[in-house]
Amino acid sequence: MMGSADEALNAYQLPKPLPIWLNPAYARHIVKGNFMTLSARPKTVEEGEWVAHQVVEHYRNLWNFVRVIYEKEEDGKTLCNSTTCPRMSAGANHSYTWLNSRFEPIELPAFEYITLMQRWISGKIDDTKMFPTEASGVSFSHNPQITTTALLNGPDEWVGKRSGFPQEFFGICQTIFLQMFRVYAHLYWAHYTEPFYHLNLEKQLNSCFSHFVLTATALDLLKPQELEPMQPLIDLWAANGTFPPESKAYEYANLKVGQRLLQLAGMA
Ligand SMILES: [Zn+2]
Repeated sequence: MMGSADEALNAYQLPKPLPIWLNPAYARHIVKGNFMTLSARPKTVEEGEWVAHQVVEHYRNLWNFVRVIYEKEEDGKTLCNSTTCPRMSAGANHSYTWLNSRFEPIELPAFEYITLMQRWISGKIDDTKMFPTEASGVSFSHNPQITTTALLNGPDEWVGKRSGFPQEFFGICQTIFLQMFRVYAHLYWAHYTEPFYHLNLEKQLNSCFSHFVLTATALDLLKPQELEPMQPLIDLWAANGTFPPESKAYEYANLKVGQRLLQLAGMA
């Protein structure tokens, strides 16, 4: 049994005052209407094609925000640099290490981590063995032979097999989504106010990230425990109606915490 909303909220060990992105007044987004339609797979599209398409789309969205923290200031430094962000962190409680060529975990400044991550993801997306179809230009031609249910029974079946994706395709896509999630978490924890809020980009960031979470959870590209650094925002978005009750993102949220956050802001 979950404790009270306040106990659950305290367990997150969030800084006080709370980060502004947890204030419901700042957690708004642009898209009105039903987000589900954006992440639901058209019935005639094979699952592998759909996952590939989502990887490319969400990577493109995320990169628009990363470009902003890569802009050089007047002093010639980027907004995210080794002084501002000596680690790839998401608040005080989470930081991520990179694996070097000998598969040893190493701590890197966020800027370097994100650059390596970008190189790694681009390498995968551009690898025609991994992404055999032009995922960004998928036309989703209607193919009556593609059924809505995935036939994933037994070791000889995998997501994307029928469209020519290799067996490790889905695992790679999960890793790509996990890396993208870490970047979003860094953007929220380290750069939400400066630059995004000050550039009036916070609604765009919220739109892209909420859509990203809906897609990632719906397609099992992220596991619930991997969402931890952003859990309170997910709770809030379940409570304020951003995530529809039928979505997996909603299922993973602690609704009581979300409602408490709305209360704290005098909005419930
Ligand atoms: Zn940073």
